[in-house]
Amino acid sequence: MQYDHILIRYGEISTKGRNRKRFIEKLKTNILLNLIDFKNIEIETTRDRIYIVLNGENHDLICNKLKTIFGIHSFSVAVKTESEIEAIKAAALFAFKELEYEGKTFKVSTRRADKLFPLETNEINYQVGSHILTNISNLIVDVHKPMINVRVEVRKEASYITCKDIPGAGGLPVGTSGKSMLMLSGGLDSPVAGYLAMKRGLEIEAVHFYSPPYTNERSKQKVLDLTEVLTQFGSDINLHIVPFTEIQEVIQKQVPENYSLISTRRMMLRITDELRNRRKGLAITTGESLGQVASQTMESMFAINGVTNTPMIRPLITMDKTEIIDMAKIINTHDISIRPYEDCCTIFSPAAPKTRPKPEKVDYYESFIDFNELIIKAVENTEMIRIGSGVNKKELEELF
Ligand code: ATP
Ligand code: MG
Repeated sequence: MQYDHILIRYGEISTKGRNRKRFIEKLKTNILLNLIDFKNIEIETTRDRIYIVLNGENHDLICNKLKTIFGIHSFSVAVKTESEIEAIKAAALFAFKELEYEGKTFKVSTRRADKLFPLETNEINYQVGSHILTNISNLIVDVHKPMINVRVEVRKEASYITCKDIPGAGGLPVGTSGKSMLMLSGGLDSPVAGYLAMKRGLEIEAVHFYSPPYTNERSKQKVLDLTEVLTQFGSDINLHIVPFTEIQEVIQKQVPENYSLISTRRMMLRITDELRNRRKGLAITTGESLGQVASQTMESMFAINGVTNTPMIRPLITMDKTEIIDMAKIINTHDISIRPYEDCCTIFSPAAPKTRPKPEKVDYYESFIDFNELIIKAVENTEMIRIGSGVNKKELEELF
């Protein structure tokens, strides 16, 4: 006998009525994308559970991967057995013995999905509990606050025994809430914003502006690495690398220095919006946090936002920098973000940017330049890189 399955419980998606099927499908795809290296596994879905059949693959390694996938409420390694009381008792005893049980209290709780099963829930609890007690000495039952909860799920086709729940990442499966473009700099904030947007089910396509020769390959590498970290929360991510040098130079030359930052941000937003349009996205996500820097005062955001009606998602808007840093550490983007390579904005940063820019003034300064043409040119020269496992849905279906 062995732990041969992993039982995955859905989070909020259980409440999503008609969309449920789509949610489960998406979660299944995201799990498979993250477990691409475990070729022997099989995956089965039911209305309220996903089962991974391990077929000999290492459950600890797989559990580590599952911890970061959004849409999973909790999961457990499980022993599968036939739905027959003697088999269930034996499997429960085996599962229990695999734990460090010395000095711990326990109880058995049964969920009887198969209403035709000949024994009542309480009777199953009693029989399984007694079987464990008679085979292991010095155990204490505690039905209120047990340290170990032996869960028995009796279904028609099979029964599952689990002894430990591992909390999942929560949230909604990535891709079930539509697509948002994530403006991803190499800084601390935007990767955290991406993480939080993904948590609510948004599929992310990252957009990064770089300005060679002012920024170098290593700052591009930073963004590739950050994107890769984000893929572990759900699915593969397309990263768009936008050449931004020409626009920055034009702004530098034509727009008064104290307005150049606002203008730069507006051009980034216009380009991102055009990419969004082409990629059929519904929103734009940024790492802005109110009052953090000159471009993030309410007046600046008002002037910057004037170039689009697309919904903006700013998950960090009310967070303090220390809270953002803590989160960056937890999701493992922190150490990549603090690598010391220049970002295109740092280099062109004016000494004294306006903190209360006037939208009509930006409009006026920009009116002397044909930015449309420059924007389309930048979009056309944007490079798209797919980060993650690299397989598409069809290939995935063939693999598993
Ligand atoms: P971050 O830590 O994310 O770089 P920040 O505190 O440095 O943010 P800003 O430089 O004002 O703040 O940038 C605000 C937001 O604009 C960023 O969070 C990001 O979403 C976007 N952004 C800034 N620079 C770039 C860039 N080079 N490429 C893509 N997006 C960018
Ligand atoms: Mg930055």
